[in-house]
Amino acid sequence: MLQVSHVTKKYGKTVACSDVSFHLDPGSVTVLLGPNGAGKSTIMKSIIGFLRHEGEITVAGFPNKSPEARRVLGYVPEMPSLYANLTVLEHMEFLARAYKMNDYKARIEELLTRFELADKTKKFGDELSKGMQQKLNLCLGLLPDPEMLMMDEPMIGLDPHAIKQLKNTIEEMRAAGKTLLISTHIIDSVDMLWDRALIMQDGTIKADVTRSELDASDRTLEELFFDVTENLSREDMSHPDAAAKGEAAAQEGKKA
Ligand code: ADP
Repeated sequence: MLQVSHVTKKYGKTVACSDVSFHLDPGSVTVLLGPNGAGKSTIMKSIIGFLRHEGEITVAGFPNKSPEARRVLGYVPEMPSLYANLTVLEHMEFLARAYKMNDYKARIEELLTRFELADKTKKFGDELSKGMQQKLNLCLGLLPDPEMLMMDEPMIGLDPHAIKQLKNTIEEMRAAGKTLLISTHIIDSVDMLWDRALIMQDGTIKADVTRSELDASDRTLEELFFDVTENLSREDMSHPDAAAKGEAAAQEGKKA
């Protein structure tokens, strides 16, 4: 479904992604993990076609910036960019028309109800709280029901109800055979949701595991994450000092 080949993106002298290659099979949920600044947003923005970069990206066999790829690919950005002078409902209808969707009213209602925005349809973009903006941002990404959806840190700013609804939505999309790529720096937020995990640090992919590979290695995703990002082996983790260091880092990760 997605093929990323040798993608490098530099911002001036900063190398945000360096020679990143991976592919995603259809009908799977992949989490893209990594500390802040690892390059997760940059690779997602490259895939969606917002950035110029070295290397090649194809979606369903088409170059990522082609109209064919755009029809297949959806994106929920980390930062909502809403129009101050459009209401919640107008945002949804505007997007539905841009995607030339038919019979979109029921889907809009279903999504706004699911994310508890049904009573906010007349509120303008700049009247929404941060969490409501985040939920509208999600509804906008979900509305076209794309074959492949990328979500950049989608849990940030959501209340527990919305997190539960988002997790249900991810499960439903997986069951419907969609391909998902979800970035996060909070490992707990994606536990149980993923089929495959990519761990990024310093602009490169440091680990690429499926759930069954990780289960067979008798490690948790969190242990693998710290092994990779802090170079602590499992044996090191059993050493009191190293375990304390890992635990402190885990707590830091949760706070970040
Ligand atoms: P992540 O999403 O994993 O937190 P990013 O992809 O946002 O990481 O950032 C990767 C690196 O690229 C960081 O060093 C960040 O400071 C840098 N970076 C990201 N966006 C820009 C930009 N627009 N201009 C300059 N540097 C940037």
